[in-house]
Amino acid sequence: MILAGDVGGTKTLLGLFERSPHRPTCTAVRSFPTAQFGNLGDIISAFLGAEGASADRLEGACFGVAGPVVEGRAVLTNVGWAVVDADLRRGLGLDRVRVLNDLEATAWSIPVLTPQELETLQDGEPTPHGNLAVIAAGTGLGMAIVLRQGETYQPIASEGGHADFAPATEREMALLESLNVGGGRVQWEDIVSGRGLVTLHRFTHTRPCAAVTTDLDAEIAPAAISAAALAHRCAACVEALDLFASAYGSAAGNLALTAVATGGLYVGGGIAPKVLSVLQGGRFMTGFTDRRRMRALLDGIPVRVILAPEAGLLGAATAALHST
Ligand SMILES: [Zn+2]
Repeated sequence: MILAGDVGGTKTLLGLFERSPHRPTCTAVRSFPTAQFGNLGDIISAFLGAEGASADRLEGACFGVAGPVVEGRAVLTNVGWAVVDADLRRGLGLDRVRVLNDLEATAWSIPVLTPQELETLQDGEPTPHGNLAVIAAGTGLGMAIVLRQGETYQPIASEGGHADFAPATEREMALLESLNVGGGRVQWEDIVSGRGLVTLHRFTHTRPCAAVTTDLDAEIAPAAISAAALAHRCAACVEALDLFASAYGSAAGNLALTAVATGGLYVGGGIAPKVLSVLQGGRFMTGFTDRRRMRALLDGIPVRVILAPEAGLLGAATAALHST
C-alpha cells in the first residue's frame, strides 16, 4: 500500500493506492484544510485514522508540495510549517518517503494518464524520447521539466513561474507598465494564476464591472471572472480571459523552448479544464508558437491539457512506486 499526498497552502489531498500493472489504483482519498493542522504528520494521522489504516502496512509514501523543495524540505509559507522527509520517515516508521515539488509530482502522472484524461491543443510530431514539460496555473504558476535519456524518465522541478514576464503585444506592454509601478519585477505568476486573472480584470476594466459583483480579493473571484467571460456577460471580462490565455501560451512556449520539450508540453492545474474553450480558441497556441526562428520546433511539440483533477496525487503515488 502506498500513501500519496498533494500538499497545498489551502488544502491537502491524501490518498491510499495499491500497486497495479498500468498505474497505481486509488482506494481512498480525502481532502483536509491545511491551515487547521500543525504539521503534515497530524494530517496523515487523521487520514489513516479515518480510513482505519495502519502505517505498518505502507511500503512507501510520496508527497507533492507547492513550493521549492531543498534537501527534502519544503516550507509552506502561508501556514508557517515545513514538510521534511526525515521527519515523515521517523513519524511513519518508513524508509521510503519522498518529498517532491507539486509539479514534479504531476509530471510523474503523465506516463500513466489515459487519452480520456487529456485534451489535445496541438498534435505536433513528438520525438519518441524527447523531453517533456509541465506548466500549471492555479493558486500560483508551477513548472517542471522531464528529462529523457533513452528510457529514463526524470522529472525536475522548476520555479520558472517566478521568471520575469515579457510582453509580446502593445496591450501586454501596457499591462506591464501598469504593474511595474515603482520599477519592481513583474513575474509570469503575477499574470498567469488565479490572482493574475484578478489583476487582468482590474487592468481591462476602466469602469465598474456589472458581471462580477463579488469582492475581487475573495478566493472565488477568479472563478467568477472566468464564468462571466465564458458567458460573454462583459466585454472587459472577455478581454481579461483572452489576455490570460495568450500569456499562458507564451509562458508555456518559453518553458517548451527552455526544456526543448519535443516529447510534449502538458498543461496541468485547476484553471485550464475550466477555461478549456478559451484555450482551444487559438490565443494560447498563438502565444505558444508565434516566435520567429523557433516556430518550426514549437509547431512540432504536442500540447495537451491534463483534465484529471487529481493528477498531482496520482503522480505522487506513481513516484512512490518508482522509488520502492
Ligand atoms: Zn467585467
